[in-house]
Amino acid sequence: MRQSLVMGNWKMNGSRSESQALAQAIVDGLNAGDQGIAVCVPFVYLSDVRGIIESTPVALGAQNVADQEKGAFTGEISAAMLKDCGCTYALVGHSERRTCYGDTDQSVAARFCQAQKQGIVPVLCIGETLEEREQDKTFAVIDEQLNAVIDMAGIEALANSVIAYEPVWAIGTGKTATDEQAQEVHKYIRGLIAEKNQDIADKIQILYGGSVKPDNAKALFAMPDIDGGLIGGASLDAESFLSIYRSV
Ligand code: PEP
Repeated sequence: MRQSLVMGNWKMNGSRSESQALAQAIVDGLNAGDQGIAVCVPFVYLSDVRGIIESTPVALGAQNVADQEKGAFTGEISAAMLKDCGCTYALVGHSERRTCYGDTDQSVAARFCQAQKQGIVPVLCIGETLEEREQDKTFAVIDEQLNAVIDMAGIEALANSVIAYEPVWAIGTGKTATDEQAQEVHKYIRGLIAEKNQDIADKIQILYGGSVKPDNAKALFAMPDIDGGLIGGASLDAESFLSIYRSV
């Protein structure tokens, strides 16, 4: 039985005080014994949010990590810095990074490796665009994005990672993959990993992301290969986020 995980991605939203209030509201809504919950916070608010969620079950995550270890890379944030700020997780390869900031399969794999070097769990985001889905290229895109990481990091590295399947056409659009569409790809991803290492395939958490809301979370999370969710818009409201968390 895999531990489920529901992770919020706050993206570039909120002020310092709003981030603190959101974190506090999430903490206040937890019950004894809760686990498998995390928030990916804007870099500049990591330390503020850390102060609130420390000693609670809510884990801290960053939304990106540099593909280099340290040095003259103005504007970048290294994995060591994230570790220093108390991060457990870092997203790598979110589709907004790939689309708007030119992250490539190679640089995403390098970010994955940098995170792991510092003991941060990379959350590898993969998924196809609408055009790719319509051209029946979904599985080919998944192969390419996942294999770039396996080729650089090695299959064993996946043991300390999380995968988020996020069809690009479903992110922030209000369109969600159907439970069956999502399960089909999750099963495919697990199968790909199983070809190389059955044990890792059985244990790895594969999250679904793409317009998950309180009213569709339960059915998605009931699918056998969906182990939780990466939640964007709905994670900005503590009540919605907690309701999604309770659906798992
Ligand atoms: C995301 O940003 O990873 C995401 C899934 O966003 P949304 O839930 O808003 O579609």
